[in-house]
Parts: sequence; structure tokens; C-alpha cells
Amino acid sequence: MKYFNKESIIHIGMEEAIITKKKGPQLNRNLSGLTVSPTLAINQKSKELEQAGHKVFRFGFGQSPFPIPDFLVEELKTFAAEKQYLPVEGLLELRKAIAEYYTNFNKLPTSPTQILIGPGSKELIFSIQDALEAELILPSPSWVSYFPQARLIGRETQFIETTFESKWLIKPTDLKSYLSTSDPNKTKLLLLNYPNNPTGIIADPENLRQIAEVCEEYDVIILSDEIYDRLTFDGNFVSISTFAANRTIITGGLSKWAGAGGWRLGFVRIPDSLQELESAVIKINSETFSCVSSPIQYAAVQAFAKTDTMNQEISKYNRILGGLATWVSNELNFAGVRVLTGKGAFYLFLDFEKFRKPLETMGIITGKSLMEYLLENYQVALLPGSAFGMSDSSLTARLAYVNFDGAKAIREISGSENFDSKFVQLKFPDVFGGIQKIKEAVQNIVN
Ligand code: PMP
Ligand code: GLU
Repeated sequence: MKYFNKESIIHIGMEEAIITKKKGPQLNRNLSGLTVSPTLAINQKSKELEQAGHKVFRFGFGQSPFPIPDFLVEELKTFAAEKQYLPVEGLLELRKAIAEYYTNFNKLPTSPTQILIGPGSKELIFSIQDALEAELILPSPSWVSYFPQARLIGRETQFIETTFESKWLIKPTDLKSYLSTSDPNKTKLLLLNYPNNPTGIIADPENLRQIAEVCEEYDVIILSDEIYDRLTFDGNFVSISTFAANRTIITGGLSKWAGAGGWRLGFVRIPDSLQELESAVIKINSETFSCVSSPIQYAAVQAFAKTDTMNQEISKYNRILGGLATWVSNELNFAGVRVLTGKGAFYLFLDFEKFRKPLETMGIITGKSLMEYLLENYQVALLPGSAFGMSDSSLTARLAYVNFDGAKAIREISGSENFDSKFVQLKFPDVFGGIQKIKEAVQNIVN
């Protein structure tokens, strides 16, 4: 059967992937207005530009620059012949290792039955949203995929705005005032993510405690996306589950701190109080992906069991990422682009508001058009704030400072070095070059 005729355009760009069709099957109505996920689209676009011979400073896609530690790669080789389907809940040994990790290191008593394994936490977040007939509450900005997932399954999303001044954190009073006017009979799911994508921020425990209190009062379920939990530059991370263990679902995985995004291994921890939800998620997973690739699950056990070895690796990543976060933020703030210094993950959220007037005179009035301008004229790939739930007119952008060779960096850098411009230029030439380009761009915009 032919689905698309000649007039069909399949256009995957930074901003959108529209499938226009004159004839063909009816598509799910929920897809209308949705695009190919901007993170994946910017990755594709940057690769295409590079293949066409253009230089691109790739700050668009958020992938760990560090290699998968050797001991995990060796484990995978050992288990390459594992061919059986595994239980939909996941390999018991892996669930046990994750539960032990949570109990001992995150001080959150966890039993293996509370853990489910999935092909990336993204899929598990989708299953949870699918299983719950809930309204989704998100801070803006938030990671790109939560809202489209809700949309795909016809759920409503309510954004609660945050600001630079509030450190991109939801104010408990704002959450409360929304909840006090909303339908109390509707199940609500608040999705938070710290260390945060796109801001690099980590919420302080007091903010989390107050948010948890509001959720308790209004019976809101919390989904705490903790995929970056071990990428914290000062080693401090407090989960909101500390204040609301019974209503907090946690997701995590190997993609970020183990550098294994392409392995597609994520997990979810569901508290006993939400057992019904867990059963529903298992049903959905059983009818969709069945189980995660067996060799990957066997290999993943050691990522949790060999805690010391893994932690040694991660501390190298954190020293490097922390050094870069500070250098990049200082450079950009000095140039007039407002940015909070990241405390974890590998993102910074830039605010070009100061340049609104001169940008207007150039016909640039949206974040998306500013990003297009920067890509075309300065070869810098960023994602606009609108991809993260900010308004179209918001002149904000996410910068992922991961365009460097992580394997080389951990070989050559101890982390105790002074991350000054000379050092960054020498060791991270593309990060350095891209930041110079942004500085040059804003200088030219004002002149
Ligand atoms: N949450 C956040 C905040 C992310 O940045 C990502 C990006 N990969 C994910 C979830 C999904 O990760 P994965 O599916 O690879 O576990
Ligand atoms: N999490 C990464 C990002 O935000 C990309 C991976 C994905 O979107 O699945 O850029």
C-alpha cells in the first residue's frame, strides 16, 4: 500500500517534521501539531550539515560525551549470546541490584518488586502517563518529551511558569493556587526533573519539601525523573521522594551517568502505595515492548553492583562537566546572555532577552527564529526555549555543552585544573569555539 503520494513532504528540521499528505490513511488525531522530537531532529540536522561539509558547533543534542566504562562493555560481550526473552518486569538480578543500590546509596528502602525495567526511561514515562488517566502538570521549561507524550494519549497538560529569578523552580504557592482552582476529582501527575534538563539546575531541599507538602494536600502523584541523579557537580542531590515517598515514582537509567543512551535501558521505581499503577504499567509494557534486550539487562547489573568502580568514573565526569558549566556560564553572562550556572547534568538555559530590541529590528521575534539565525550565520546549534514549553516569543535556548571527546577528556584531565579560557580552548576546542561564536553574534546584534 502506498501511503504518501508525490506531493508528500517529509521534512525533518530543527524546528519541525511535518508530514503533509494529500491522500492516504487517517492518522491519529492526537498527532496533529506534534513534530519529530526536537532533540532528535537537531541531532539529525547537525549531522546533515556536517556531512554537507559545514562546521557546526553542536550544542543541540543532549548525549553523554563519555564512553561506556570498559567493565560494562566487557560484561555485554560476556552476555552477547543471551537470547531468551526476559520477564516483562525485567531481569530479577537487575531489579535486585537497582533495589539494593537505592536502599544503600540513596537511602530509600526499595524492594526488587518495586522496580521495572524498560527500553529507556522515556518509554517508561510514557507507560506511566498511559496507565494514569491524569492531567499532567509541568514546570516550563521542562524536558521536550513529557508534553508530546501526554498529547499522544490525549491527556491535558498544565504548565506552571518558572522564571530566571525563581531559578527555574516552581514556586509552591503557584502550584497551590493552580490546584486550588482545578477539578479535585481529576487525578494529577506532577512531573519534575532534577538535575534538570534544560536548565542544569538542582532544586534545593526546602523547595522540594514545600512542593511535596502541596502535593500531599491536593493528592497529586509525583513523577521524579532522576535520570541525571549521579551527575551532580558537588555530589549533593536530594530526591523529592525524601519528603513524599508514598506518592513519588522515580525514573532513571543508564543513558546519562553510564554514557549508554544507545543501550536503551531505563527503570522505574514505583512505591507500594501505587501498586495498582505498577500492575497497569506492566500490562502496557507487556503489550508494547515485551522486555528490554537480554544481553543489555545482564550487563547492566554491574553498573549498580560495582558501585565503587562506577562512582570513580562518574566523579571524573562531574569534575569535567562542572568545570565547563562554570566557564561557559561566566563567559555568557559577561557577554550579556543571562544564564544560571548549572549544578548538574550537562545543560544550560540561556536568556537573550536583553537583546530583544535590536533583534526585533532584524525581524527576529521568536526563540525559534533566533536559533535559526544563530545556526545559519554562526554555525551554532541550540534548541529554542519553546521546545521546552516556553512561549514562542521567549528568547531562551538550551545549550548542551557535550560537544567534546569524553574519552580523551577523562584520559587527559584530572579535574583539578583551572578551567580558564586557555585551558578550555586547548582541551575543549568546539565548546570554546561555539561560545566565541555566540559572543560574536550578540556583539554584532547590538552593534
Ligand atoms: N528524561 C530526561 C530529562 C532526559 O534528558 C532524557 C534524555 N535521554 C530522558 C528522560 C530519557 O532518557 P532514556 O530514555 O535514554 O532513559
Ligand atoms: N535527552 C536528550 C536531550 O534532551 C536526547 C535523547 C532523547 O530525546 O531521547 O537532548
